[in-house]
Amino acid sequence: MPRYDFRCRECGSTFEVSRPMTAASDPALCPDGHDDTVKLLSTVAVGGRSAAPAGGGGGGGCCGGGCCGG
Ligand SMILES: [Zn+2]
Repeated sequence: MPRYDFRCRECGSTFEVSRPMTAASDPALCPDGHDDTVKLLSTVAVGGRSAAPAGGGGGGGCCGGGCCGG
């Protein structure tokens, strides 16, 4: 079950709430009982690294001689 970080604007404390994703947008109650809370951006591990493929240089000279030219 994912955990979501919330921050209470009443007392300024942050707390975690474990809840299913279907209830991710539901308001959370501060451990101290305050209901003026905001959901923080969850710290998602961003490790995507787009590796661009290196262009293969150097083509063979096969088609120059007529081996594949029919
Ligand atoms: Zn609070």
